Amino acid sequence: MDNFTNDTAPDFRHIGTWIFDLDNTLYPASSNLFAQIEERMNVFLMRELKLEEAEAKALRRKYYGAYGSTLSGLVAHHTIDPEAFLSYVHDIDLSALRPDPALAQAIARLPGKRYVFTNGCRNHATRVLEKTGLTGLMDGIWDIRSMEFKPKPQPEAYARIVAETGIDPATAVLFEDMAVNLAPAYALGMTTVWLANGSAWSDQGPEAPREASGHIHHTIDDLGDFLQTIRL
Ligand SMILES: [Mg+2]
Repeated sequence: MDNFTNDTAPDFRHIGTWIFDLDNTLYPASSNLFAQIEERMNVFLMRELKLEEAEAKALRRKYYGAYGSTLSGLVAHHTIDPEAFLSYVHDIDLSALRPDPALAQAIARLPGKRYVFTNGCRNHATRVLEKTGLTGLMDGIWDIRSMEFKPKPQPEAYARIVAETGIDPATAVLFEDMAVNLAPAYALGMTTVWLANGSAWSDQGPEAPREASGHIHHTIDDLGDFLQTIRL
C-alpha cells in the first residue's frame, strides 16, 4: 500500500507488462522533436529519390497512410538502405529534452516487465531515454527493426512482440500518444491508455469520431501523474 492511491483510482493490479510508445509519450509533445525528424525525412527523400520538397512530402503522406511509416513504404517500393535512413532521420538535436525524475520514479514503481515500443530506431530510443533520465528502467526496446519494418499500427507489429516475448495481452498495457496505434493492442486484449496532446496526429483514427471506436480504456494528459495514481 502506498500513499498515492485510493480505491477509486484506475485499477492496474492485473498488469504485469508495461509497454510504452517513445516519441511524445515518454517526453512531452511540446518538445517538438518530430518536426526535426520530419524535416530530415524530407531531405533524405529529396536527396535519394531526386524529388522536390512538395513531392517528398506527398510521398511521405502516401506511405504513411498505406504502411504506417515512411520507411516501410521506402522498403516496399525502393532500393533504400533502411539503416541509412534510420541513422539520418534520427540524428536530431535532443537539447529540448529534460530529465523527468517524477516520471522515472513513477515508472520505477511499476511491477513486472517494462518495454519501449517505437516505430523509430533503437539508437534514437536509447538517446531519448538517456536525456530524459529513464535509462535502466526498461527491460527492452522494440524498434522498427524488431517489427521487420512493419510498424504500428499494422497488427503484425503487435502480434510479433506478443509471440516473441510470450506476454499475455490480458496482463499488458500500452501507453501511446497516437490513438490509432492503440486499436490493434485493444484487439489483442491489452489495456490501452491514450496520452492525448490535442494535436491532429494524436487524435487520428482509426475511425472518426475517435470516441466512437471504443478502443481506448483510459485517456490521460500526463503520464507521470497517471502512473502515480493507479492501483498496483
Ligand atoms: Mg508517439
